Amino acid sequence: MNIHEYQAKELLAKFGVAVPAGFAALTVDEAVAAAGRLPGPLYVVKAQIHAGGRGKGRFKELGPDAKGGVRLSKSLDEVRANAAEMLGNTLVTIQTGAAGKQVNRLYVTDGADIAREYYLSMLVDRKTGRIAMIVSTEGGMDIEEVAHATPEKITTITIDPAEGFQPHHGRAVAFALKLKGDLNKQAQQVARQLYEAFTATDMAMLEINPLIETAPDSSGAARIQVLDAKVSFDANALLRHPDIAALRDETEEDPAEVEASKYDLAYIKLDGDIGCMVNGAGLAMATMDIIKLNGMFPANFLDVGGGATTGKVTAAFKIILADPAVKGILVNIFGGIMKCDTIAEGIVAAAREVNLAVPLVVRLEGTNVDLGKQILASSGLAIVPADDLGDAAQKIVAEVKKAA
Ligand code: GDP
Ligand code: MG
Repeated sequence: MNIHEYQAKELLAKFGVAVPAGFAALTVDEAVAAAGRLPGPLYVVKAQIHAGGRGKGRFKELGPDAKGGVRLSKSLDEVRANAAEMLGNTLVTIQTGAAGKQVNRLYVTDGADIAREYYLSMLVDRKTGRIAMIVSTEGGMDIEEVAHATPEKITTITIDPAEGFQPHHGRAVAFALKLKGDLNKQAQQVARQLYEAFTATDMAMLEINPLIETAPDSSGAARIQVLDAKVSFDANALLRHPDIAALRDETEEDPAEVEASKYDLAYIKLDGDIGCMVNGAGLAMATMDIIKLNGMFPANFLDVGGGATTGKVTAAFKIILADPAVKGILVNIFGGIMKCDTIAEGIVAAAREVNLAVPLVVRLEGTNVDLGKQILASSGLAIVPADDLGDAAQKIVAEVKKAA
């Protein structure tokens, strides 16, 4: 589960992490009021969408010369003008895809005087079974580009969760960032705080790009601050964190995926045109592979799970059919705990309800398979039965080509 930058920063601040002050805003007036509560004279108006690259992004509705989704503003009037240009419009960044994302929320922050931009991210590294902290002196830019062109500028520090964050980890981070004196100490501290936030809230990924060093203030003191934060949580751990689960913003997610999650269906929208309904993640992936092997592409991943009811199957079927790209559906169920007749009833009920207009191939195997096949055959619906996975994939591709 992903959250917005402003939510991530509020969360990190609870762990002591230094972030610029700021307030979220849903309207232009709220944005101006938020700026009014900040010291000024520099404010930053930031689009809150679940995607990075906002600064270099462009708004669909505005001209090519208009500014992106992160705007420095030197007065309350500029804050007002920038907020008005951003709210309700569609921001396209390298991470949103061509469709972009509508900006419904802004974050108005205290503008920082940046001396240097660094990079710090954390993730659960499956290869080592540990937490990796990745740091670079090259912050504020596309880290993939840095990794490609100058991999020596990226340092990975591995932390054993059983051992926890040790002082030497902090020193390694500060050393990799080439920091001296008080800034070195601040970097060690922020690394520790970020590690604590990461593990305490079961994050899956945390990316601070940029982590900044501010220009020295009037007393000569410079600060290490988190200027941008992208956080995602391990969905399997959310039941331990109701406060974090409450941060979910469903308007940022694919509506079909939100609908699927209500029925506890594991659904992920893909770009192809064959809708898939399968039980078990492994079988679902095998089904997607075999569709590709036969020359077409899956429109979705969908695992209906082990204990699906007729209602759940009906919901799954409707979600697949609601996708206008779907030109045919392949149902592949191995009935173990899940009975084939339950699936068959769900398919028939859903197909009747939604006025099925695309070919449907069903492969059932396992518990109550004969009863299931009988329900499908006597339904009066144009369902093509298949004997095994290979047969099913060939049939759905052939049916879709025939219908085209
Ligand atoms: P992103 O484009 O979605 O990654 O959004 P960021 O929050 O990382 O902002 C993009 C860039 O805008 C940063 O790398 C900074 O260079 C610049 N920026 C953001 N906030 C400030 C600020 O407070 N002061 C200054 N001077 N620049 C900022
Ligand atoms: Mg950024």
